[in-house]
This record gives sequence, structure tokens and C-alpha cells, in this order.
Amino acid sequence: QPNDATVLVFGPFNADGIAELERRFTARKLQKRDLAELPEAERGAIRAVAVAGHIPNDAIDALPRLEIIAHFGVGYDGVDAAYAASKGIAVTNTPDVLTEEVADTTLGLLLMTVRELGQAEAHARAGHWEAKGPYPLTRFSLRGKTVGIMGLGRIGLAIARRLEAFGLTIAYHNRSRRSDVSYTYHDTLAGLAKAVDILIVAAPGGASTDKAVNADVLKALGSDGIFINIGRGSTVDEPALIAALKDGTIARAGLDVFADEPRIPAELLALPNAVVLPHVASASRDTRRAMGDLVADNLSAWFAGEPLPTPVPESVKAGLTRAK
Ligand code: NDP
Repeated sequence: QPNDATVLVFGPFNADGIAELERRFTARKLQKRDLAELPEAERGAIRAVAVAGHIPNDAIDALPRLEIIAHFGVGYDGVDAAYAASKGIAVTNTPDVLTEEVADTTLGLLLMTVRELGQAEAHARAGHWEAKGPYPLTRFSLRGKTVGIMGLGRIGLAIARRLEAFGLTIAYHNRSRRSDVSYTYHDTLAGLAKAVDILIVAAPGGASTDKAVNADVLKALGSDGIFINIGRGSTVDEPALIAALKDGTIARAGLDVFADEPRIPAELLALPNAVVLPHVASASRDTRRAMGDLVADNLSAWFAGEPLPTPVPESVKAGLTRAK
């Protein structure tokens, strides 16, 4: 049922997601994250924004009738949800529909990093197997290892389930201990890093995790330590990570996320002991389509006066769970 409400698509957005928004609403698309593309006279008609990534507060301020921001992605650190709530604007995200995909990718990244699968494939493709002999035995193996997860939430638990099936020992650090798991809890990140062979970050970005993985944590992880990040680049002190990989403070890193995407520091790209992926953890067509559908479902619910399927905690706290 097409709705006459206009949804502003704020910058780059998944193509299937745009098609779904256009099917249900009138969609106005910005090519860049810049309201200058939208004539002032049209701004007053915008009641809803769909965004993947960042929307600045001054753009929120410039839309006088804005009621809801539907974020494409579970990690909504690019939206100031507390600020939006202070203006009576609801924010939604896309949890659950991407959890298993992201956990799958994390295990792939972990195996690439530990067992050098990318380098081994390059060896085969270059003809080195026949010309020079087998790929060298890898320094590391997953066998017998203990894995620490920072951020044992939806995705962290899905990773932990897979690691259990791999026969590995699991520990974790959250701000609070979970009552529904028997994995060893550490109340500090450095304590977790010290206790494990492999540290996986699956925590949100934002102020509470900003540069949490710092030089001290990397030192605690140690010279045989392996670091995997599929959370957010902001959670790592990236220069400290590069230094730690260069001087052997830790052994390896596998990274899907970076501090200043899509830029990856040249120093990091040059390191043989880092595996880098271009933020692809949820990036299958099916999963991205499910995320786009959930963005549209939140907007449909809002305009129908029904409860939002997935409001973020800041909006729930402010009572912004359905249109008034
Ligand atoms: P959840 O909210 O379910 O889990 C987040 C977990 O992190 C919770 O267990 C929480 O526990 C913990 N946490 C939050 N803040 C801190 C903190 N300051 N210190 C320690 N632990 C903390 O989220 P999801 O599992 O659904 O998603 C997690 C994140 O993964 C997203 O926010 C996003 O940034 C990232 N992500 C990355 C993707 C990619 O493409 N690479 C794709 C999808 C998600 P507690 O509250 O007790 O601290």
C-alpha cells in the first residue's frame, strides 16, 4: 500500500532497499550526505529519513517536521540517537537479520588470519605450488586455543556458538556479566586480552568503546596473540595496532572495519601479518535485502501508528516507540 509520506534517503543506500522504499513511499534521494541537494522548500515535507551510516545533527536540525530516522545497519553509531530523542525523533536500526551472516564472516576472517588462507590461495594461483613446492606450514592453528570476545551480544553469541562447534574455549568482556552463558567473564578488556590467545571485537562503536583496544590491551594479548575486529574501527587505537603488528607486540590481525573508512592506512596494507576486508561482514545480497526490508517495515509501522519493530534503546527510553 503506497504511503504518501515522503522518505528522504540520506546519501548512499542499498539498491534493493531503495526499491522497497519506492514501492511503499515517495522517496527523495540525496546522492551525497548533504542536504544542500534538497531545495529548502522541500525540506518541510520530510517526516522520515532512511540512512546507512552517518547523519549529522545539523541535518536533523534542518528538517523541521522530521519524526523518525530509520538506520540501515545494527550499529547506529553514525546517528546521535540521544540527540534525536531530545527532539522527539525516533531512531530504528536493523538487529537480528544480519547476525548469522556477520558471525559466518567473522569465522572466515579468523580462519584466513590464523591459517593464512589468502596467502595460500595466492601461492596456488601464481603457480608456485608446481614451480616452487607446497605452501609453507602455518605458524598458527586454532587447535587448543582460547578465544576472547569483546561484545557478547547478538553477534558475539552467534560467533561463540560457532567457536564452540570448533571445540575452542571461550571467554568474554561486556560492561555487565551475562546470566545465560557459562563462558568465563572478565570485567576488564585488558584482563580478557591477557587470558586469551585470540581477541575478537564484536562490540558497538561510539563513545563507550572509543579506542578501547589500545597499546596496553595489545601488550596484554601478547606476541603470539591474534586480534580480529568486526565491530567498529573506532574501537581500536589504529596507530597503536599498526605499531604492535610491526614490532611483534602481537602476531596477527584480521580486520573488517577501520577508523576512517573507506581509507585503510597504507602502513596497514603493507603489513604481511594483517588480513583486511572492506567492511563486508553483512554484505550478501540476501542479508542486505533483509536489512532494507526491516528499514521499510519500521517506516511502515510508524506511518500506520503501529509499534516500531526495532527502535534503538535511546528511543525506547524516551517513549518513542510509535507515532503519537
Ligand atoms: P548487541 O547490542 O546485541 O551487542 C553488543 C554487545 O557489546 C553487548 O553484549 C554489550 O554488552 C557489549 N558492549 C556494549 N558496549 C560495550 C562497552 N563499552 N564495553 C564492552 N562491551 C560493550 O549488538 P550486535 O551484536 O547486534 O552488534 C554489535 C556491533 O557489531 C554493532 O553495533 C556494529 O558496530 C557491529 N557490526 C559490524 C558489522 C560489520 O559489517 N563489520 C555488521 C553488523 C554489526 P554490555 O551492554 O553489557 O556492555
